[in-house]
Amino acid sequence: MKIHEYQAKDILAQFGVPVPRGRVAATAAEARQIAEEFGGKVVVKAQIHAGGRGKGGGVRLASTVQEAEQHAAAIIGMQLVTPQTGPQGQKVKRVLVAEQVDVERELYLSLILDNSAGMPVMIASAAGGMDIEEIAATRPEEIHQVLIDPVSGYQPHHGRKLAYALGLAGEPFRQALQVMAGVYKAYTATDASLVEINPLVVATDGRVLALDAKINFDDNALFRHPEIAALRDRDEEDPLEVQAQELGINNYIKLDGNIGCVVNGAGLAMATMDVIKLAGGEPANFLDIGTVNDPQRVVNAFKIMTQDPNVKGVLINIFGGMARTDVIATGVVAAFRQMDLARIPVVVRLAGTNVEEGKRILAESGLPVITADDLGEAARKAVTAVTH
Ligand code: GDP
Ligand code: MN
Repeated sequence: MKIHEYQAKDILAQFGVPVPRGRVAATAAEARQIAEEFGGKVVVKAQIHAGGRGKGGGVRLASTVQEAEQHAAAIIGMQLVTPQTGPQGQKVKRVLVAEQVDVERELYLSLILDNSAGMPVMIASAAGGMDIEEIAATRPEEIHQVLIDPVSGYQPHHGRKLAYALGLAGEPFRQALQVMAGVYKAYTATDASLVEINPLVVATDGRVLALDAKINFDDNALFRHPEIAALRDRDEEDPLEVQAQELGINNYIKLDGNIGCVVNGAGLAMATMDVIKLAGGEPANFLDIGTVNDPQRVVNAFKIMTQDPNVKGVLINIFGGMARTDVIATGVVAAFRQMDLARIPVVVRLAGTNVEEGKRILAESGLPVITADDLGEAARKAVTAVTH
């Protein structure tokens, strides 16, 4: 789950990371009031989940209260397009009005799980304020990393190594260590999967501050943090993904291709996507219905598929372990009866528990279901069905 910058800053501040003073506003009048409190010299920042807001005109500096109000009026309600939103952009509902900081240096700092090392890695760079993926690709020597063993946790030597690499000294060096310790604490305490501060700045007065902040959370741990789960902003999420969750499908991710996949188990979903690609096709989504013996779950998956205009065909690939393939087949038949699936060819491959019964249900339904006995055959049939 993602949250807004102002929410991420609130959390980081609770863990001792200094952030500029600021408050969120939903109207230009509110923004003006906040700007007055801070003496007029503020930055007005669009609050959307995507990054790159500066490039899209969503971050504007103001020198006076009037200017702050004008910036807020221009930003609130705009459809902000950034390199991360896609061409349709994202509607801005609120702005963060924060005290403006006189910046001496912009740095980059993040903490993320290194999957291959099996532990968090803290990443720092002197090339702050820029797209970190681009730095990694073009100037990898400017990216510094330390792995942090979660058993012993963050130690000052981790921070010292990064702070030296950034060329910090004196008071900013000491403060950077405080920031890194706070970032680690915030990451572990909230079950975050990413904390990113870009830029982390050294101000002309020597303060080290998080000028921007991004935190992503592990969805599977949200049940332990109701106060964080409450920060969810559904307006920022893909509407079909939200609907899928409401229908009990927790693992649905929309992709760019045209073959909708209905699969049980995340591993099988990955394999199915691979085999579709191997057969020359492109998956339209990643959808894991989970291991539930409920035909309605299959119907719900079709409800999602039929709302995605990119879906030109559906491939159902079920391996029945604890899941019963006859229940899945019943769900497929129910979906055909309840919905108009005429425009969508459906390929079904069933294997495992009760597969004979599952195949019989499909055969006796008289429905135009295309069946396949193995995954390769199913993928080829799905690709053929969407290309003809
Ligand atoms: P992003 O573009 O979505 O990553 O938004 P940021 O919060 O990172 O803001 C973009 C850029 O605006 C930063 O990299 C800074 O260069 C600049 N910026 C933001 N706040 C301030 C501020 O208080 N003072 C100054 N001088 N620049 C700022
Ligand atoms: Mn940023």
